[in-house]
Formats: sequence, structure tokens, C-alpha cells
Amino acid sequence: MTEQPIREALDAAGRVPSEADLDTLSRQLNRPARDVVEIGARCVCGNPLVATTAPRLSSGIPFPTTYYLTHPVITAAVSRLEAAGLMNEMNDRLGEDCELAEAYVAAHEAYLANRDAIGQRSGTGAVPEIAGVSAGGMPTRVKCLHVLVGHSLAAGEGVNPLGDEAVDAIAEWWTKDKCYCIGAWDTESEAPSRDRSRHVKTQEMQDPAAKRAERAAKRAAREAEERSAQDDA
Ligand SMILES: [Zn+2]
Repeated sequence: MTEQPIREALDAAGRVPSEADLDTLSRQLNRPARDVVEIGARCVCGNPLVATTAPRLSSGIPFPTTYYLTHPVITAAVSRLEAAGLMNEMNDRLGEDCELAEAYVAAHEAYLANRDAIGQRSGTGAVPEIAGVSAGGMPTRVKCLHVLVGHSLAAGEGVNPLGDEAVDAIAEWWTKDKCYCIGAWDTESEAPSRDRSRHVKTQEMQDPAAKRAERAAKRAAREAEERSAQDDA
């Protein structure tokens, strides 16, 4: 594997998550933001666009997906691209276009290099369980455009060709040079608590609808995982 330079959109100071950032993340996600060690990319107004998770969670579980898109305007726009079939088209091109395929392998390697650096900075260190495993289908396929866009925004332009394409393709709904934060998430009510042990039980008891929604979301996640495991088989 060729050595890829570390490229990051934000400098060291910009990556540090403030309390306000963590609050904003949990509002954007509408759930507590956990194990976020850095901010991967920011809106021109300063709000987080991408949450960076260390390669090992505080629970000890290895975690390959470093960059998570959190801005609701961007995640919705990327979902539209997925629904429109852009991933299939990209996968076809990866099979035909050697230059693109090579650049995509380099993006995979760059992702791993960034993740190693984040592991070192956050004190996780090396995580051998996921060595060589990146995310989003890299290095040979596109399985999740959100992952690629998260990578593109966190690494900056010119690192992930397909992530960059997807960023360009959402220009109708979101562009780097403008703030789309106003009204994009709830800023009025209390932020979803980051302390599960203390609050979640009471919240669930008070709100059976939320509990049902959480169960449905867990079920959907499980099914999605099973589906992708089947894809791999
Ligand atoms: Zn903004």
C-alpha cells in the first residue's frame, strides 16, 4: 500500500470539539453524540458538518467509520443522490475506468492514514482488528455515499474522487461557501442528552412513541447490516 499524506480540511484548533459543538451534533442527529473526538468539517458559520469518531469506541469496540455526516441538509441531499441511483452508476464506472479505480484506491489509503492519525491523537492507538478496512465500500465499491461525502469534506477536495463528485452533485441543495444551518435542526428544546445512563430510561418511559421509534430504527439498522453482509457474501 502506497503511503498517502495526511490531508485534513480543518487545522488542529478547528478540529477540537467544544461543548457547543457536541450540543449541536446531538441536535443535528437528534440523538446523543457519543465517542466524537474531533470535528471533521465545519460550515462557514462554524457549526459542525462532520463528526469524527476514534477508531476504537470507549466501549472497546473497533470502529472503522471515522467520518459521520451530521448536517441534516447535507445528509438529506446525499440520500437523494442514493435514491436516484448514483451509487450504481459509480460502481459501473469503477469497473470500467482504471484511472478512477486507482484514485479510489488512493482515497481508501488516505482514509486509513487519516484514521491512524486520529487514533494516535485521540489516544486510541493502533486498532489491528480493522487494519486495512475503511468504509463506504472503499476501495472497490460504493456502498454509502454519506461516508464518501464525509471523507471528502473532512479531507478536503482532491482526495476522494467519488466523494467530491457527490459534493458537486448536491450543489442544488448545499454548497461549501454558504450556511444552510438556520432551521435545519431544533434549537429550541433541550438537546438529546449525552448521558444515557442518567436520562434515557426516564425519557423512554415518558415517551412511548420515541421508544417505538428507537426500536424501529434499531431494527432497520440490523436489517441494513444483514443486507450488506449478504452483499458481501
Ligand atoms: Zn452554518
